[in-house]
Parts: sequence; structure tokens; C-alpha cells
Amino acid sequence: MNIHGLRFCVIGGGIGGLATALALQVRGAQVTVLEQAAELTEVGAGLQISANGMTVLRALGVAEGRPAFGQKSFGTVLCDYRKGRVISRVPSPAAGSTYYYHRADLLDLLHKAALRAGVELCPGSRVTEVRKHPGEAEIVLEGGERLRAECVIAADGGRSAIRPILNGLETPAFTHQVAWRATIPWNRPEHMPRAALTMGPGRHVVTYPLRDQSQMNIVAIEERSDWHEEGWRLEGDPVDLRARFADFGGEVGDILAQVQNVNIWALFLRPVAEKWQNGRLALLGDAAHPTLPFMAQGACLALEDAWCLARAFEAQPGVAQALAAYESARKARARKVVAAAGSNARNFHLRGPMRLAAQAALMALGPRLAQRYEWIYSYDPTA
Ligand SMILES: Cc1cc2nc3c(=O)[nH]c(=O)nc-3n(C[C@H](O)[C@H](O)[C@H](O)COP(=O)(O)OP(=O)(O)OC[C@H]3O[C@@H](n4cnc5c(N)ncnc54)[C@H](O)[C@@H]3O)c2cc1C
Repeated sequence: MNIHGLRFCVIGGGIGGLATALALQVRGAQVTVLEQAAELTEVGAGLQISANGMTVLRALGVAEGRPAFGQKSFGTVLCDYRKGRVISRVPSPAAGSTYYYHRADLLDLLHKAALRAGVELCPGSRVTEVRKHPGEAEIVLEGGERLRAECVIAADGGRSAIRPILNGLETPAFTHQVAWRATIPWNRPEHMPRAALTMGPGRHVVTYPLRDQSQMNIVAIEERSDWHEEGWRLEGDPVDLRARFADFGGEVGDILAQVQNVNIWALFLRPVAEKWQNGRLALLGDAAHPTLPFMAQGACLALEDAWCLARAFEAQPGVAQALAAYESARKARARKVVAAAGSNARNFHLRGPMRLAAQAALMALGPRLAQRYEWIYSYDPTA
């Protein structure tokens, strides 16, 4: 259909929302992004964007920035926790390199590109309700203001307030996993920067460089049962972090010793949504398919969604058909990637003899490990 002048409201100015707004606006739509935060800002943390996500960033014209914006990865080393011994080296996927982004940089790139394209960005706009009317939807903001649009995309994250409109109330489950996130200044640049995944019993740590290797990003995951509240970002205590990973040695031990500020997330999950759309309103990104971060695919899936949604509008005769086509194009893949991330939670945290057996298998597999997930990375939604 011709979406020239068609009014879209995108709820949420995260990676999924901004990419969607940009993909629709450049096709001629008139897009407004409603973001609850007063400013589109983000604290320090990294994101790995693999080839499937990079194809979308390139197609949107936001991946050509200075090298500091995206650090090309030369693979991943898998390490044992005690002394940091390298178990295996996993090369970059055949589909293409992963890039390490500071989340704030990626958001800033998308934000600026959306503004340049003519997207209207409305920070400080919290959506409380979306109502379906014949031919359009009505969006209600906190404070009572109302807007109308022919189509509404809810990219309002894993704690989406809009998802219950389509799927009813669901109680998120605590995954018994807690994520600590920090960045530290880094002054040991490598010729070929890579990520390190260091695995120990019940815990793992992922580190990779950011911003021309001037910073090191740290994600430390631990299994925990003592958390019952779904919290977004909380401030953590670096001393507590070090105590919980005190038996992690080698480079990762040195890195954890330098952490000054850390945030902590309890990882709660809802399942992949049963219903993604109702002909006027559609879910996108974490709102549709929250995932554990153990495949580093949440933002990549949101980018894929953005492109596939915009493409569906090109191919279908009306809004309802486009949203239905989007849902059917995305659901099975999202389920498969989310399941792969869930099984990594078990694989990374093995204990005792199971851990030793898994390490032997990883050593034997070596470079062939990259092939295992090629189905994720080689998917090109822009093809
Ligand atoms: C520890 C950790 C590490 C990760 N690492 C990676 C990685 O390396 N690679 C990767 O691809 N993914 C990674 N992810 C996942 C990734 O961060 C998310 O999947 C991604 O940010 C989802 O984007 P989104 O736009 O769907 O949602 P979000 O980024 O959550 O954005 C939602 C936006 O909606 C706004 N909002 C919410 N409610 C409302 C409302 N009612 N009205 C208006 N606005 C609203 C919010 O303020 C927010 O700005 C990681 C996640 C975690 C927790």
C-alpha cells in the first residue's frame, strides 16, 4: 500500500521504536514517537549487534558513522572462570561481523536519523491507553491528552503497558538470573578486538570493548533466588559484585576489580506474545518477545521487526493486512531465538562434571562453534 501521509504513532523511543519510526518515515509515513522519559538518554552499557541487526542499521543509513560508534568484533573467546584459561576461540560468523555499540551511541544515531527524516519525537509522553475505532486508533497520554493515528506500534519494552490490551494481564516470571552491567575506562587496545565469555558455576561474565576500545563493557550474570520484585535498573554495589564473582580470576578478575559504578537488573520474562496485533495496534521488540540476553539478540530482533513491519506495509493493501503479515513473518523466528537464549542460560552455568564435559566438547568443536548459530546471523530481513 502507499503509506504516504499515513499517520503512525510509535510508543517507546528505544532501539525498536526509533528504528521502526525511521523505517516508516523514509517510506513516506507521518510518524510520531511517544516516549515516556523526559529525555532520550541512556546510561552506559554495551550492545552487541550481530550481522542480522547490522543489515537493518545499514539499510536505515545509520551504520556508517565514525569507527568509535561501532567497534568491529573479531570473534569471541570462551574462558574458564578460575584463571581465565581460554577453552575455545569462536571466529566471527560467516554471515558477517558483530559490532559492539555503546547503547547511548546507537540510540543517538537512530534518534538523529529519525529527526532528519522528519519523525516527530515527543519525550515526556507516557501512553496509558490505546483504543481501536473504525479506521483509526486513539492514544491516551498520562494527563489526558489524546491523539489519533491510522496505526499504532507499541515498542514499549519488556514491561509493556500496551501488551495487555492484546494479551490480557500476564504475570512476569523471575528467571532466577540477575545481570550486573558496568563500563570501565580501558587502556589496553587490541589489534583485533573480541568478546570474552567467561563461564563458572551458576554465573558467567561477558566483556567486550566499546568506543574505539577506550572502554570495556561488562555484563556479569548470576543465578539468584532472592529477588521477587520486577525492577528496571537499580544501582548495584561494586563490592557486592566482586564478592559474588570473587573466584573469577585472570583478565576478568582484573576487570571486575576496576568497576566503580554498576547497575543491576533482575531478569523477569513474559513469554513471546500469543497475539501481536489487532489490525490497528501491533507489538514490536521486547514488548512482543522479551528474551534473556544470553544470545545478545534482543535489540537485533527489534531491528529485524522494524524492517519487516515497514516492508509489510509496502507489500500489503491495507493496515490490517500489513500488521497480520508482520505478525506471521516474525513470530516463529522470535520464538526460536528466544528459546536458543534460554538454553544458553543452562549451558553457560554448568557445575561439576557437567561443566568439565561441556568444556571438552567446546574445545573439540573449536571454530565450528560459530556455525551452530549461523541461522540467527545469516538472516537478512532487508534481502
Ligand atoms: C544485560 C542485558 C544485555 C543485553 N545485551 C544485548 C546485546 O548485546 N545485543 C542485543 O541485541 N540485545 C541485548 N539486550 C537486549 C536489548 O537491550 C533489548 O532487547 C532492547 O533494548 C529492546 O528494545 P525495545 O526498543 O524493544 O525496548 P526498550 O529498549 O526497553 O525501549 C522501550 C522504550 O519504551 C519506553 N516506554 C515504556 N513504556 C512506555 C509508555 N507507556 N509510554 C511511552 N513510552 C514508554 C521506555 O521508556 C523505553 O524508552 C540486552 C539486555 C540486557 C538486560
